[in-house]
Amino acid sequence: MTARTCPACGAAAPEPFHVGEPVPVNSCLLLGDRAAAVDFPKGDLELALCPVCGLIWNCRYDPALTTYSQDYEETQGFSPTFQAFIHDLATDWVERYALTGGTVVEIGCGKGEFLVEMARAGIGAGIGVDPGVQPARITDDVPVTWIQGLFPQDLPELDADAIICRHTLEHIAPVRDFLESIRSAVTDVERTVLLFEVPDVQRVLDEVAFWDVYYEHSSYFSAGSVGRLFRAAGFDVLSITRAYSDQTLLVEARPTAGGAAVALPIEEDPAALAEAAARFARGHRTMVEHWRDRIRTVTARGGRTVIWGGGSKGVAFLAALGADAALVDGVVDINPFKQNQYMAGTGHRVLAPKDLTDAEPALVIVMNGAYRTEIVTELTDLGLAPTVEAL
Ligand SMILES: [Zn+2]
Repeated sequence: MTARTCPACGAAAPEPFHVGEPVPVNSCLLLGDRAAAVDFPKGDLELALCPVCGLIWNCRYDPALTTYSQDYEETQGFSPTFQAFIHDLATDWVERYALTGGTVVEIGCGKGEFLVEMARAGIGAGIGVDPGVQPARITDDVPVTWIQGLFPQDLPELDADAIICRHTLEHIAPVRDFLESIRSAVTDVERTVLLFEVPDVQRVLDEVAFWDVYYEHSSYFSAGSVGRLFRAAGFDVLSITRAYSDQTLLVEARPTAGGAAVALPIEEDPAALAEAAARFARGHRTMVEHWRDRIRTVTARGGRTVIWGGGSKGVAFLAALGADAALVDGVVDINPFKQNQYMAGTGHRVLAPKDLTDAEPALVIVMNGAYRTEIVTELTDLGLAPTVEAL
């Protein structure tokens, strides 16, 4: 299956600028069995960039191959760094959009930790919708209704002061249709603000972050492409800002009131993004080889390498290493729901940090640099002093 037109603006699809190795179609599913993890289905990865609007998408993406259920373990809520970020973001949004006592819907609420933060920050009522939400795991007493399902099928009307959608839009292939369905589901267009967060593909391209390209992410946004998409779907974009060590974009928008749609200064044009995409394509092999060499060198000296982070970045990183993934001795994750499960693709078992006292790694490769400080602290507390390098 190949998407022949841009899912955001309908322009004819160009040739892909990057063709990756096939990757597991799901990288956050818990697999209790190593053989099932190794045999996990793979999908094709071919990134195209629309020359008209700048959207980047996997033109080989097949939504039928990805499933989201309660077995989907995406939460980073066990990290103090992440907790501090969502606390600050929730407080900021409640204050700036006067949401105290208001009603907030979160589409794609995951395990619900952000909506819980919004409740702590003062909203009056919340509705969280996600196929993977597990209300039994949410112990906070908050005024939130949880819907284990999908928008718009299980929540056709959006009657709210704010609609939050974080780390969800990049999982959706028909992005324009999705935003237009939100636009038409909003019951009071003058009241409702949209607060979105998506990964920033500009950083992925600039840093040749091949570990941030994986099957579940069918769509990749820059400040420019996300701004153009929201305006095309009938919204005025109030602001686009970078957050979380410049890994993500925060997009704030309202249903359009008419008048001229204006691009914000942060929005680059598609030609500039195309140059970054070309640099990514040229640098990809070199970056993969750098990490292969790094791990081979440690192994040759009799040392062990572990990676820290058993989520999507880890799955994508190990998939790109090819046969050298076997030289990685272990994968660590602080999420207890991941520990003792197996990674899709390579079948590595996920260890708890305390398991490293037996493994005594020489090199720890951190999958997300935002967590480097807390990881170094945890290693020190365990009495370990390996070399720590972040992607
Ligand atoms: Zn386009």
